[in-house]
Amino acid sequence: MARVVVVGSINMDLVTETDTFPRLGETLFGKRFAQYPGGKGANQAVAAARLGAEVTMIGCVGADAFGDAMKAMLVNEGVDTRWVSTGREATGIAAITLSAGDNAIVVVPGANHELSPADVDRAEQAFHDADVVLAQLEVPLATVRHAARVAHAYGKPFFLNPAPAVALPDELLELTTLLTPNEHELATALQTHGADWKAVLQRMPGRIAMTHGKDGAYYTTDDGDLQHQPGFAVQAVDTTGAGDTFNGALAAFWHLGVAEAMRRANAAGALSVTRAGAQGGMPTLSELERFLT
Ligand code: ATP
Repeated sequence: MARVVVVGSINMDLVTETDTFPRLGETLFGKRFAQYPGGKGANQAVAAARLGAEVTMIGCVGADAFGDAMKAMLVNEGVDTRWVSTGREATGIAAITLSAGDNAIVVVPGANHELSPADVDRAEQAFHDADVVLAQLEVPLATVRHAARVAHAYGKPFFLNPAPAVALPDELLELTTLLTPNEHELATALQTHGADWKAVLQRMPGRIAMTHGKDGAYYTTDDGDLQHQPGFAVQAVDTTGAGDTFNGALAAFWHLGVAEAMRRANAAGALSVTRAGAQGGMPTLSELERFLT
């Protein structure tokens, strides 16, 4: 069983469906409301845990009902929440309005932005015990960089899913064992807009696994060979969370070698799009094994 440490965000997604978007100053009745667990960190932690990894989450929530609900959800998924701290700000939320196939989203990071290098230091034992450390960019960059340093100090692989995309500082890039962007995030993270992404991957052999939607994923072997792990053909219902599922799965299966880990991460990503919701679609290990046989 792989031991995965996730350093990242924990949000509650608040989803309202309406016939039209409200105009400025207007109040209207919505059709439906639901809340779903979210945040890239929590999503990736759940994806890895469902696939059998022993997962420890390092994050920060508020002292409020959403924070309590998110911690309870993580515990229920088997994630170790000992290092989820409680900040002064409210638990992060995403207020999502859906109307006629469009969406409008406001994200309030709240307590996620209080996750500090000291929180990472407090969880040092988890780094010591980890097989893989996985992070995204919904918590402060200084904290992500510190996590990369601590992972490096313990000789642990550090995976960075550079989402939401920003230009990555050189030191963080150097400390990253494997970068896991989609095509757009690759260009922004490495500032290679306009360049052929295949050439970019070949410039960093063994260091990037790039997802490419239903086409699957790509990486370059240590000797510069561009490899394609094809996606699995499925009936897509909701692609939300496909990237998070891929990342959690990649960390959970990393011990099987890059090609097999990517094949399984593609399968997990494909299964996730056949069901609604980010975490709602994430497969269990037995579902994945059934799908692959
Ligand atoms: P998102 O932001 O929607 O979570 P992303 O852009 O980060 O996604 P994608 O490249 O779209 O990530 O998807 C991640 C992985 O999920 C892909 O590499 C692939 O394995 C799988 N996947 C995504 N969409 C599909 C699909 N329509 N059919 C099959 N597999 C898919």
